[in-house]
Amino acid sequence: MSTISRRHLLATSSLALVASLAAPRIARAADAYKQPPLPFADTALAPTISAQTIQLHYGKHHASYYTALNRIVPNSAYAGMTLEQIVVKSAADGASGRAMFNQAGQAWNHDFYWQTLKPGGARQPSGKLAQAIDRDLGGFAKFKETFAARTTAIFGSGWGWLVEDNGKLAFEETSNADTPIARGKRVLATVDVWEHAYYVDYQNRRADHVKAVIDNLINWDFVRDRMA
Ligand code: MN
Repeated sequence: MSTISRRHLLATSSLALVASLAAPRIARAADAYKQPPLPFADTALAPTISAQTIQLHYGKHHASYYTALNRIVPNSAYAGMTLEQIVVKSAADGASGRAMFNQAGQAWNHDFYWQTLKPGGARQPSGKLAQAIDRDLGGFAKFKETFAARTTAIFGSGWGWLVEDNGKLAFEETSNADTPIARGKRVLATVDVWEHAYYVDYQNRRADHVKAVIDNLINWDFVRDRMA
């Protein structure tokens, strides 16, 4: 072999080595968990919820739970499960599942929250929902007042819920990432009272935010169709 061809061989080998180090050894798997698209424009809920709040809440807070899931689920005991299965199993796993539950619960709760909101959605319950609210919760006016009061009164970060449990409507409050679906309950509506949900628009006036969401944004047709 001539000196030139030997040099050429060394040079091309070095280049190949550098290229193999730079390239990922295994193609990165597609992220298993994908944040569902927002079902409306980020400006659509104003003035009750501003575009800035939506951009932060959906685009940063909610998105971060998906980023975390895609980091921690692969190679864990939860790999291959649906988001809802992870919520249920990590809740049942107690302390050892807590870190997973916090991310999965928040991902699921926000997925559901966005679905319940609709600008110009049904403003009044109808059909079996209206009947159940009359039967179980004292009529729509009383229902709204109680839902708002109980949700506003949650201490710290959490969620106010309307649930259907054994055929009856009820209110429930959860803290942090907790969710009634971890205990097998069917959820019909929710209001997020983490400060990131309202602080940009309402500062400390949580009660005003909760009342405005219940009065203006919850889509009561969606809530009715969630019933068993
Ligand atoms: Mn939130």
